[in-house]
Amino acid sequence: MPNDLSAKVLVNKTRLMEDLKRLGIKRGDNVVARVALSKIGLVEGGPQTVIDSLIDTVGPEGSIFALSFTLIYKLPLSEKNKQMIFKPDSPTYTGAFNTCMLKQPKAIRSRHPNCSFVGIGPIAEEILSKHGPDSPSFDPVHKLARYDNSEMLLLGTVDQSPGITTVHVAQNILDFKNKFAGRYGVNYRDTDGTVKCYVRNDVGGCSMGFYKFYEYYRKENAVSEGTVGAAKSMLANLKKTLEIDLRILKQNPKFFFCDNPSCISCRINWEFSDGSLLSVKYHQLLYALKRRSLKEIPLLILRNTRDR
Ligand SMILES: [Zn+2]
Repeated sequence: MPNDLSAKVLVNKTRLMEDLKRLGIKRGDNVVARVALSKIGLVEGGPQTVIDSLIDTVGPEGSIFALSFTLIYKLPLSEKNKQMIFKPDSPTYTGAFNTCMLKQPKAIRSRHPNCSFVGIGPIAEEILSKHGPDSPSFDPVHKLARYDNSEMLLLGTVDQSPGITTVHVAQNILDFKNKFAGRYGVNYRDTDGTVKCYVRNDVGGCSMGFYKFYEYYRKENAVSEGTVGAAKSMLANLKKTLEIDLRILKQNPKFFFCDNPSCISCRINWEFSDGSLLSVKYHQLLYALKRRSLKEIPLLILRNTRDR
């Protein structure tokens, strides 16, 4: 994007560390980073420099974490998808920063076949070693939220991929039921070498409405905000955001729903969703008419009927 401010900013490690400290990261902190590299600017040294900056900002007594999620597939698995076996070295689809985290010599990766996390630092083992096929998907974030000095860093993802992952932790604690539970999974190689099938039961769903929690986080000083390089950024205290998320969702389970009238995840899939399939399809058609050629519309209807 030539007009994007981030395209013009040259950022080095010194600048990154200054910005991360100004945002509120301190020595000894545990930081889960969600990073949109392109939003930072032209980073000298690429994702490795961002990782080094985070490690040096938290120091040897702190730990850093990232999401190394991998795909799951519709069950029962097709013959092709049966061959997609999750292993500790499976690539993640979640971007260059997380891919680079997986390559760090000291990185530890959890064994969850869909939502694995990767971490470096003194508490990485404690947080990740038991996160496997039988664990809640976002258990590492739940464990981290027990510490006063654990944070989630949204680096360039505040608006584009909104929200703090404690909302998913709260959904699971409150036992919110989703129609997609049990419908998707993936094969994985167990610790004894056998191939088993993981079935995702704690579905997190659409997170585009998670920005609605921001104003409550701000009111209760659970977040600090600023820029890192050219990236709009947020640092959230996980213990505080989890408390706020639980309080809000206990009162109003639908609070996290997004604003998109054609979102099946929010309008239809939750046990407390109150949309109708007819309305969702109507809005999908309106969207298609605005954005796509008329020829694609029959395909769109078919696809949405079959999948989600
Ligand atoms: Zn949604």
